[in-house]
Amino acid sequence: MEKTKKSTKRLKTAKELQKVVTDYYLQCISAKAEGKPVGWMPPMNGAIEIFYAMDLQPVFPENWSPICAAFGLTPQNFEVSENMGYSRDLCGYLRNIIGYVNGLMNDKNSPFGGLPEPDILLTPGGGCVPVMKIFHALEKRFPDAAVFSADLPQVAVEDIEEHHVAYAVSEMHRLIDFLTQTTGHQMDYERLKEAVVLSDRACELWDEIMSFRCHIPVPFSAAEMGIMFVMVTLQGTQTAVDFLTRVRDEVKEKAESKTGVIENEQIRLFWDNIPLWYNMGLFNYFEKAGGVVVAETYSAAWSLRLDVSDPVRALAMKSLMSYPLVSCVSIDKRKEMVLKACRQYHIDGVVFHRNKSCVPITLGQMEIKRELETQLGIPSVIIDADHMDERNFSVAQFQTRVDAFMEMIKDRKNDLQ
Ligand code: SF4
Repeated sequence: MEKTKKSTKRLKTAKELQKVVTDYYLQCISAKAEGKPVGWMPPMNGAIEIFYAMDLQPVFPENWSPICAAFGLTPQNFEVSENMGYSRDLCGYLRNIIGYVNGLMNDKNSPFGGLPEPDILLTPGGGCVPVMKIFHALEKRFPDAAVFSADLPQVAVEDIEEHHVAYAVSEMHRLIDFLTQTTGHQMDYERLKEAVVLSDRACELWDEIMSFRCHIPVPFSAAEMGIMFVMVTLQGTQTAVDFLTRVRDEVKEKAESKTGVIENEQIRLFWDNIPLWYNMGLFNYFEKAGGVVVAETYSAAWSLRLDVSDPVRALAMKSLMSYPLVSCVSIDKRKEMVLKACRQYHIDGVVFHRNKSCVPITLGQMEIKRELETQLGIPSVIIDADHMDERNFSVAQFQTRVDAFMEMIKDRKNDLQ
């Protein structure tokens, strides 16, 4: 098995994704060429809908990292950032982006023509430290970009109170005023409402798509996780809703006709932590032993239903909740989420990706592992790797651990029969 490998996809709609991705990046390039202001921002916050409603172009440097990994560009990007003094222990997204903007960025052969330079940078004031630092470094790299330093309280989802929401609402208005003054574009509140309705619809569809994975056999596996792209870059657009509707229809049809990913599904697995973007083919490896990865922590983090009756407040809530949901989740909350998912998706075993360069999502895995065994009797295995840096991953070690793990689950299931 190779260290860098694409996954085998079975959904017809997942294959259509290539066009959605290409169109999005071409749209970013042409926006810049036409003089439409381009803003770079972290993913999963309420700014995306504001940008689309003000006819501005949002771009997500973090999301560009999986694209670089898929095109095999990360080693070059890492070389640049490491030569600049960034340690190999830092987040792979951070090192990749820093390397890209200081290296390949203006190379004509970049995938999809590359990223357009930012006119605006939305620097987050919350989330994990690497994501904040990415933007501080980008401010230095693009000194002409107008900077909006967002300021949001970082509170656990269960601790959000009305005064946090009121402050986040005032930040949303400060952002709209900043964008109006910086770009001359006015907020169209009718369009904003439409964008929030479309975002909420995308999340509803996403939840529905994920719910079909409770079916036995499962209609699609983690190998198709690329469909998450629209949840990151295109929330608030009709494109996302149309694409997800097609995915939902296909998945529903497969679930109803009991068409599984593989012919004889024997072991249902849960994947914790970010995928290995340079080797999505790993998800297919389990199939030779009758295993399918039917659910993941990462995909669950991108759906957040919105109260469409008050768009600005809805986006304030989304901004407040995004980091506590995606990467800054308390260990108790993560434990609760993983255990609930394991019951819901009828999981036989859990694969913990111990991610060398993402501490926030890796922290607490041992505790969750213990609880899975004691509360649900579900065994798990730890895979040492990295979401971006293939140098921190050994295919041979992965195969040895997975082969033994699959055998162990089969034995346990046989004993129970
Ligand atoms: S959550 Fe992890 S992967 Fe995401 S930016 Fe932070 S350290 Fe990097």
